[in-house]
Amino acid sequence: MNLTKDEKLAILRAADELIATGGRNLLSKILKGSREKKVLELELDKSPVYGYFQSETIAAITEKVDWMIEHDFLEIFYSGKLPMIVYTDRGWQIEANQRADEFLLEWDKLIAEDAPIPDMEYLKDRNRHMIFLFLDKIRETGDPKYIPFLEAWEKVDYKKVRAKIRDVIQSITENAPIDLDLVEQREAEIEEALKGEAPQDFRLKCWDCGNRFIFTVGEQNFFKQKGLHLPKRCPKCRERWKFGYL
Ligand SMILES: [Zn+2]
Repeated sequence: MNLTKDEKLAILRAADELIATGGRNLLSKILKGSREKKVLELELDKSPVYGYFQSETIAAITEKVDWMIEHDFLEIFYSGKLPMIVYTDRGWQIEANQRADEFLLEWDKLIAEDAPIPDMEYLKDRNRHMIFLFLDKIRETGDPKYIPFLEAWEKVDYKKVRAKIRDVIQSITENAPIDLDLVEQREAEIEEALKGEAPQDFRLKCWDCGNRFIFTVGEQNFFKQKGLHLPKRCPKCRERWKFGYL
């Protein structure tokens, strides 16, 4: 199985609605477009990718989600006994970029419709990395149409964000040059990240006996889906621990 770029983006986008609040099953239900009570209660039907895989079975969708876990886009984190979906660094790098683009498109739409400036509180308390990326993208357009929105936003956010907003307004106003190499590099990094990391067997060193042992793809998948860390000990030493004769 391999997923297309759009499928990967859709799964990452769906995960954004439930990060650290739900697991694989709930993620699959968003993508299926499930009418289940929990989905509706959490307003997950408002996700732009709700029902993205509606013609597929839940089992087939869960397989795609697991593929994303195996290829280092998402991982499982245990909150108490509950397995939660979280982004890996790779997954978040892609999703932050996708969300920043989405915010910019929303502004474009509002401006094109001549809609009133929204209450900018909605941008507060979001991930700072993503918000700064959004601001960089605004700067890179060099388009003064965004300035009234930026000014409204500047009034409501925190100090560091306000400083960055002022910086972007100034850059646009002064028509400051844009570092296109940097933009290109960022886009190339996203394309690279989108490929994902193919799972492969690798060798680990045992903490007890110091011997190397193979950590297979199958074992890795098991560990990832259970949200476990890398095993510290080789199978032999693990057995010894289990039975308590050391
Ligand atoms: Zn060992």
